[in-house]
Amino acid sequence: MSTNRPALPAEIARRRTFAIISHPDAGKTTLTEKFLLYGGAIQMAGQVRAKGEARRTRSDFMQMEKDRGISVSASAMSFDFKNFRFNLVDTPGHSDFSEDTYRTLTAVDAAVMVIDGAKGVESQTQKLFEVCRLRDLPILTFCNKMDREARDTFEIIDEIQENLAIDVTPASWPIGMGRDFLGCYDMLNDRLELMDRADRNKVAETISLEGLDDPRMADHIPPALLEQLREEVEMARELLPALDPQSVLEGHMTPIWFGSAINSFGVQELMKGIGQYGPEPQIQKASPREIAPEEKKVAGFVFKVQANMDPKHRDRVAFVRLASGHFERGMKLTHVRTKKPMAISNPVLFLAADRELAEEAWAGDIIGIPNHGQLRIGDTLTEGEMLKVSGIPSFAPELLQTVRAGDPMKAKHLEKALMQFAEEGAAKVFKPMIGSGFIVGVVGALQFEVLGSRIELEYGLPVRFDASQFTSARWVHGPRDAVEKFTQANKQHISYDHDGDVVYLTRLQWDIDRIERDYPDVTLSATKEMM
Ligand code: GDP
Repeated sequence: MSTNRPALPAEIARRRTFAIISHPDAGKTTLTEKFLLYGGAIQMAGQVRAKGEARRTRSDFMQMEKDRGISVSASAMSFDFKNFRFNLVDTPGHSDFSEDTYRTLTAVDAAVMVIDGAKGVESQTQKLFEVCRLRDLPILTFCNKMDREARDTFEIIDEIQENLAIDVTPASWPIGMGRDFLGCYDMLNDRLELMDRADRNKVAETISLEGLDDPRMADHIPPALLEQLREEVEMARELLPALDPQSVLEGHMTPIWFGSAINSFGVQELMKGIGQYGPEPQIQKASPREIAPEEKKVAGFVFKVQANMDPKHRDRVAFVRLASGHFERGMKLTHVRTKKPMAISNPVLFLAADRELAEEAWAGDIIGIPNHGQLRIGDTLTEGEMLKVSGIPSFAPELLQTVRAGDPMKAKHLEKALMQFAEEGAAKVFKPMIGSGFIVGVVGALQFEVLGSRIELEYGLPVRFDASQFTSARWVHGPRDAVEKFTQANKQHISYDHDGDVVYLTRLQWDIDRIERDYPDVTLSATKEMM
């Protein structure tokens, strides 16, 4: 994260674009609802789910999403809180969709890590954290479910420090836990925040105190708990690092807030923390030069494509993160990959839970651009300059299967469907050099099912997946004649991805090692930058 940068225009400086990372069940959905509640986006918590359901029945292809309770499609939501504009980008919850998640995280400036106070750092949290670490994303932590039996506070903090190798500084300190949970002591502002158990949709009073020794403490906290609180806070101040905002921005330290999302407790404090310590829109890596948010001209990049949000129209929505400038509806932007102008006449802002037409947006915002397939993941849009945003990789799939249409006459339809999903980033599709048919590659096994049901639903085409003779795929890079020579000598193993790039398929790691020895000019790569 950069420092010593010029002050951003106020509209940009007030933006906070982030994602929530967590293990399933830790409380991400509940917390999101409460964010929206405080963001004034909805009247009552609980409506996100209700609205989500309605939207699903309207536009969602996936019965599975409902059946299994997993969220297959990511979306973005914007809401205001105090002087800030929050853009919350939803990360797919299931561990099978790691590539999608990774790309989502390229579109945010920070992540909120939600952990369950009884369970601590769980596997999925750890994985997602590591993805954030690759980009040194700042992380703010919310320890949820303190109204249940939770672990000892020091133990939770230790576990985060140990498992994730990050400094943890308490922004608040819980008072009691489970049935005895009263609220938190705000370590940053020396305030007492009490939880109101009666009304889940509002927070209780906040009492301002002159530090821990304020005699009014005793009016609110029973003696034993008060003594424990004083001891623990003193110990925490001695043993744990103090909040260092710069270290937070660099991703080396995470402040932790304790609370109970379902009781709306601690949520506002967390939101204030995101405003205060979370980063402004950051510089975007691109070639041949970086893009700074304060630049007058608009630039943005596609980090997600979602097809068939409305099955009646074969349209797609490309989710674009604005990297710079002030965007206004109707603008003509240059689609850098094809060098063609594109009039952005009907962009969508994801205000609250519903789609709305965007009139304007600023660096940091996420807009949706309906299109017919011109926009692909990794594409850059500018006001004319040939800039290419970098750092949006595609990963080699870990599972490969052949796919066939139930009706052989429909092979062309199948090809069309597969290309669409390849462009969406939902799967890798390889066309073997020899023979017919396609090989589909995914990262998690569940994706085959998702694909199968989508092809059937959206294209009316039942398909069959079968085991492939291959288990690994590598992109082939190198000078043109070296690649050509390699291709000719290994035809049985060669296929082409949807961009026409050469891919080597095999079932043996040994093959990969051998090629690296035998063809020094050729490199086999497990990732490729999306074009
Ligand atoms: P997600 O899978 O991370 O989106 O988790 P949800 O928000 O759906 O929450 C999982 C379960 O935990 C639900 O039954 C919630 O009602 C419950 N839950 C969420 N927050 C709290 C909390 O603060 N306290 C308690 N006791 N339960 C909570």
